[in-house]
Amino acid sequence: MASTEAPRWTAYANERLAGEGYRRGGGRAAVIDLLDAQECALSAQEIEDRLREGERRVGRATVYRVLDELVELHLLSKVEIGDGVARFERVFPEGTHHHHHFVCRDCGRLIPFEDDELERVLRRIARREGVAMDGHDVTLRGRCPDCAPAAG
Ligand SMILES: [Zn+2]
Ligand SMILES: [Zn+2]
Repeated sequence: MASTEAPRWTAYANERLAGEGYRRGGGRAAVIDLLDAQECALSAQEIEDRLREGERRVGRATVYRVLDELVELHLLSKVEIGDGVARFERVFPEGTHHHHHFVCRDCGRLIPFEDDELERVLRRIARREGVAMDGHDVTLRGRCPDCAPAAG
């Protein structure tokens, strides 16, 4: 389940925000930097907690407002894993970095994975069904290596 290093998302996000007329804000920059340092999705609560641990103080209202803005601009996607908590994940330019998740039903851990062949298969299915696919969600469920009973 190795995943390759993702490209930097901050520059892409800032460019999009500037293009949409957003001014550079301290709170927004802190949220963007934090998310760009993650391999995978974080909940709003986790984002708030991690910002509080760091040097940069960002109020809860600002965190939520920034997350809404970034989702609206399709710079973040909401990852729903069925526990009622939305997690936020960077969205990269079309055709660049993109991954899916394995969710552990015991500990709730989210493990990212990517697979070019899976992407090709999904595109082939979309063509076959004659649909214009502009996104997809694939979530694997089960038990992670820590929670799975030892083999043998
Ligand atoms: Zn992820
Ligand atoms: Zn687990």
